[in-house]
Amino acid sequence: AAALEFRDVWFSYRPGRPVLRGVSFQVPRRGHVALIGPSGAGKSTVFALAERFYEPDRGVVLADGADVAALGRAAHRARIGLVEQDCPVLDGTLRDNLRYAAPDAGDGEILRAVAMTNLTGLVARLPGGLDAPVGEHGRELSGGERQRLAIARALIARPGLLLLDEPTSHLDLENELALHRTIERTSRHCALLVIAHRFTTVRAAARVLVLEEGTITASGTHDELLESS
Ligand code: ADP
Ligand code: ADP
Repeated sequence: AAALEFRDVWFSYRPGRPVLRGVSFQVPRRGHVALIGPSGAGKSTVFALAERFYEPDRGVVLADGADVAALGRAAHRARIGLVEQDCPVLDGTLRDNLRYAAPDAGDGEILRAVAMTNLTGLVARLPGGLDAPVGEHGRELSGGERQRLAIARALIARPGLLLLDEPTSHLDLENELALHRTIERTSRHCALLVIAHRFTTVRAAARVLVLEEGTITASGTHDELLESS
């Protein structure tokens, strides 16, 4: 079964105003799917349904073939990692942040997550907590490094599926490439559904879904979409 499947999913925040209108797609096991589309298209809503924050008005969301609505919320969330664009980090070092996220994880698990996200060597840095201003003392990680910390945190639990909202804020080239390497490496270990804002991510995805006004209007590889546009 697919890691994630949407079958004719409809969803509205307010009655009579559907935001998702018959959305169907699959993220295969170890698959790498990119979700693109204009602001307001419904991408974040797809994530909210995938992590069972909301339930569909109609249609079903399946994870590993099981209807997510029938699973306990906690059981389902334990299998899904979510990384949002501006993932808050806590006070303490990068290593502390990983320990808080997974108190039972062994050093091996932590080192693995650190290596997968190219953060080896930065574990003693202070990411800077919620309110630390960028560039000042006490915030020793760049925006890109903080994003990779958020991914590392999600990976410790070895999720079967990672939902990742790529940052839109400016990343310098070095950070963009590092994030991209991390995404590629991650996709070898778990299924990925990425809200893609960056060209490199769309290119690397096995499949790209175009969401417009709550409907998937095109899907295919990056090259197929280029040819048909
Ligand atoms: P995207 O992530 O593609 O920008 P969203 O899923 O955030 O799109 O939003 C899709 C539509 O749903 C938008 O019209 C947005 O205004 C609306 N919307 C999102 N969240 C809420 C909410 N909590 N309550 C009401 N409307 C919402
Ligand atoms: P970005 O432009 O992506 O926000 P920054 O300019 O914040 O990146 O950081 C660039 C590099 O400097 C990063 O590798 C980051 O880890 C390092 N860095 C930033 N602030 C500090 C600091 N206070 N102490 C040590 N290293 C820092």
